[in-house]
Amino acid sequence: RPRLLSGMQPTSDSLHLGNYIGALANWVELQEQFEAFFFVADLHSITVDYDPAALRRRSHRYIAQYLAAGIDPAKSVLFVQSHIPEHPRLSWVLESITGFGEAGRMTQFKDKSSKEGSDRATVGLFTYPILQAADILIYRPKVVPVGEDQRQHLELTRDLAQRFNKRFGKTFPVPEAHIVKATAKILDLQNPDKKMSGSIGGPGCLWLLDDPKVSAKKIRSAVTDTGREIVFDPENKPGVSNLLTIASVLSKTPIETLVEKFAGAGYGDLKKEVAAAYEEFAGPIAEKANALIADPGTLDDILADGAARAQETTARVLAEVYDRVGFLPPK
Ligand code: ATP
Ligand code: MG
Repeated sequence: RPRLLSGMQPTSDSLHLGNYIGALANWVELQEQFEAFFFVADLHSITVDYDPAALRRRSHRYIAQYLAAGIDPAKSVLFVQSHIPEHPRLSWVLESITGFGEAGRMTQFKDKSSKEGSDRATVGLFTYPILQAADILIYRPKVVPVGEDQRQHLELTRDLAQRFNKRFGKTFPVPEAHIVKATAKILDLQNPDKKMSGSIGGPGCLWLLDDPKVSAKKIRSAVTDTGREIVFDPENKPGVSNLLTIASVLSKTPIETLVEKFAGAGYGDLKKEVAAAYEEFAGPIAEKANALIADPGTLDDILADGAARAQETTARVLAEVYDRVGFLPPK
């Protein structure tokens, strides 16, 4: 099976529906075809303002939600980034073949640092895309599922792989982006011109671990569009189209089938249906995740097993890299 790798930063106590539909639900499918590695990117989380206790809690909570959503530790390797020291060790090597100007062209850093102010933006945030390249290359994956926002970082990863290979000999396969389908962008229920976002939260964001009744209410209060017809038209009817996308994913029904079903019905009917589908979907996930969160011993066992399996690869690849760049082998 070809190899695949993906991760998320543990930025909140709960994932939101956008994270689920845009990332996690795809992972669950991909683990069937690929030898998959899924991780919690805790090393990346310390590059911005954060709270250590919250980080520790969230790492457990993210793993619990991966498992509750259907990531199967018998099929996939699940781990926390900080358990695998080869990631930052490879990152150092890659930093040493990255141009300062090249790193400075990363638009995500420019966006984030202009928001934070240049004194608050850390060097860690600046080198983040290089650590991300190391996260990927150390596993020699064939494909990396990424959102549109990560395209530039993956391009850097590919450049660094090629540069390393050219200078030190063929070491890294150049990974391909697996851009997940366009329907994967879930919008904020209150501001359907923006994506649903964890850092914004609020009444337009559905948290997987919230009481599903609270989320159902948010869905019933979602902003819809002018007119009254239920059609899938993301340009002109982003609110209604977003609800149709959500309903389609949660009930595994094609959008056209839903549009036919709601012909002549009102927005209120659609919202009620989406709210019901959401409750049915989120109830069991929240229950499973909360049971796992209450059992950190089991989570830690799964992570220890994942780290051991990950290191079967990372230790070997790093040793090869260290040898190629001219470091003495430790005796
Ligand atoms: P923020 O909005 O603060 O950037 P977030 O928690 O909403 O954070 P990320 O941590 O940036 O999301 O992304 C985690 C994963 O979830 C990524 O794979 C990203 O593409 C996906 N994702 C995030 N938001 C959405 C969304 N609204 N629709 C689809 N996928 C999303
Ligand atoms: Mg984001």
